[in-house]
Amino acid sequence: MFEDRIARARGRMEELGVGVLLLSVGADLPYFTGYTAMPLERLTMLVLPRAGEPTLVVPALEAPRVEERPGVFTIRPWAETEDPVAIVAGLAGRPGRAAIGDRTWATFVLGLQEALPQTGFVPASRVTGMLRAQKDPAEIDALRAAARVVDAVAVAMKERPFAGRTEADISRELVERILGGGHERANFAIVASGPNAASPHHEPGERVVEAGDSVVCDFGGTMAGYCSDITRTFVVGAPSADMSDLYQVLFQAQEAAVQAARVGVSCEAVDAAARSIIAAAGYGDFFIHRTGHGIGLEEHEDPYLVSGNPTPLAAGHAFSIEPGIYLPGRYGARIEDIVVATEDGPERLNEAPRELAIVG
Ligand code: ZN
Ligand code: ZN
Ligand code: ZN
Repeated sequence: MFEDRIARARGRMEELGVGVLLLSVGADLPYFTGYTAMPLERLTMLVLPRAGEPTLVVPALEAPRVEERPGVFTIRPWAETEDPVAIVAGLAGRPGRAAIGDRTWATFVLGLQEALPQTGFVPASRVTGMLRAQKDPAEIDALRAAARVVDAVAVAMKERPFAGRTEADISRELVERILGGGHERANFAIVASGPNAASPHHEPGERVVEAGDSVVCDFGGTMAGYCSDITRTFVVGAPSADMSDLYQVLFQAQEAAVQAARVGVSCEAVDAAARSIIAAAGYGDFFIHRTGHGIGLEEHEDPYLVSGNPTPLAAGHAFSIEPGIYLPGRYGARIEDIVVATEDGPERLNEAPRELAIVG
């Protein structure tokens, strides 16, 4: 599997004229090696030349944590008094162009630029982004398993009281349930109530949820390395007629975008499928973000479903479909599922009911 991924990366490097791929912290490194670098001031970096053996440069004290993979990469541990940037520069040769991990600490990028003055640097995502976007069946199984957990959390929350609790308290419950369901990490648990629901990335706080509130809950985490991400909107007691109408528009927009997410359809056309319905209902100015993002080892990765992205969907692309409508000072709503493009059409990984959920 790692050999295959490296071979595909080299094909892309060839196309882009990239001589070496340099990967440190972030999801690219585990994608190619199975090893995740600690975010430390000591440099860990995979040096992956277009031709020749990849080398993982790693602090000697971290080396025992590295699972060696003969035929994939060799390890070059560095001692405390060595200069890891010089080691990486030596292994890199003198490439005209290097692709360096998007999350690499600036201090190492600056050091490498100084050590390799003839080399131009580009972000590694140009090589890795669309490779990682296309999931293999095992990756889709991992995303599906993670989706099942957050689905169960969403279903369980419908039976829980919301009124009288703070957003922070509900958020804590979401985190506990995500971890209880088998995720190794909860990455976020947005609870946005009442007027706060008009802020898509609201930080849950001390506001107490009250009758009539819409409550946007957007939560996810990581299980076996792969991410979950779901949004359901709850309402305390019966929704107002306005809220019901708005939610129906949103529901139709989300459904339309899911149905549009077919192999060969462009990312921006999927965005337009949701946006046109919301705009036709008069809410166009209140859908203030893209329709979705790719998901995998990271919560947000390629492909991005946004106007201006002509990339056609391919089988194995996994992404969120998450339109929202946000009325400043009043309330908001969002519906989010993870969807995979397949040769047989779009497959939703999230199955929790997505109707406006009435809670106490
Ligand atoms: Zn978001
Ligand atoms: Zn989300
Ligand atoms: Zn999302």
